[in-house]
Amino acid sequence: MPEGHTIHALAQRLDAAFAGTSPRASSPQGRFTEEAALLDGQEYAGAEAFGKHLTIRFAGAPLVHVHLGLFGKLSVTQHRRKLPEGGLAGLEVPVTGQVRLRLLSETHVADLRGAATCELLTEQEWSDKATRIGADPLRRRSIPADTAHRILRSNRPVGALLMDQSLIAGVGNVYRAELLHRLRLDPHLPGRELTEGVVQRVWEELVRLMPYGVRTGRILVDDGDLRRAAALLREGRSGRIRPTYAVYRRHGRACPRCGETVLRATMAARNLYWCPGCQGGLPDLEDPAVARLLAGDVRELVAARPAGSVCPSEVARRAADEIGTPGWRDLMPLVREVSLSLAQEGAIELRRRGERLDPADIGAGPIRLAPV
Ligand SMILES: [Zn+2]
Repeated sequence: MPEGHTIHALAQRLDAAFAGTSPRASSPQGRFTEEAALLDGQEYAGAEAFGKHLTIRFAGAPLVHVHLGLFGKLSVTQHRRKLPEGGLAGLEVPVTGQVRLRLLSETHVADLRGAATCELLTEQEWSDKATRIGADPLRRRSIPADTAHRILRSNRPVGALLMDQSLIAGVGNVYRAELLHRLRLDPHLPGRELTEGVVQRVWEELVRLMPYGVRTGRILVDDGDLRRAAALLREGRSGRIRPTYAVYRRHGRACPRCGETVLRATMAARNLYWCPGCQGGLPDLEDPAVARLLAGDVRELVAARPAGSVCPSEVARRAADEIGTPGWRDLMPLVREVSLSLAQEGAIELRRRGERLDPADIGAGPIRLAPV
């Protein structure tokens, strides 16, 4: 998935390509034809990025809201075609693939393909939506007080909080892994165990690092890479830097700082990479917070299946993702224990082969969790 810096760079490229023009708008694929007709020939009024969201404005038309999602792509290129006698109206630039929205000027073409969201919104609709997008380190030099408070009150691990787009917008998987490693932060540490100073540091690092991503198109986090990039940018060159990472996709290899083997787990539905040597080890399953989290997951999953039942492994898999432990199987004994006490409280029912089990005597064998 493109990270926020990619979207900021795209907004800049759209502005560079279309500012001062009234491009033609069309939907070669046909899924955005009526909407494109409203934009066609209107004066381009600027693109803006908010985390992973992009808006494109035209004078006298609703705004275009785009979220690329996992598979979307927006290309902005010079087409180098001669303007025919009929002017822009007669200009043809071949289309490849499924282009949802095309903008065409005398010099440039922008093609949007495969986006998760491409819609027209009124300013009011957009501002309602924008309030649910988190603070963007590429737009704000200091962390909003409300964002810091939400992090400092949270029971969720910092590795999941960083990926929560309604909290901090635009941070993706690479920045998460490398930033936490740079700051020697254990990704499993709940937000409420961080100090205000640490939260400030996290934000400051994002503010410092992410602009390099916008300007070079690469996620650069290594000090040597950053120095090289700064030198190239000063000379006005973009230069290709091959990024050096300490932990991202380096599981099974030695941490460059302490030599410990880098680990991988999933957290917030994406691969998490960290060094147990200098960032803290595996999550502590004895921590009562883990049992509380499991109990919450059991209740939620059971409630979501009023007519059926839930396998404890479903709870373990979901919880493993939330707390970032590589082995969901390690959580199974704890899920069983937590489920048993919930059954004793009468919050859920335990079943085996469809039969209700007495929580005082469940014996051996598989159990399923069901609503009362
Ligand atoms: Zn290390």
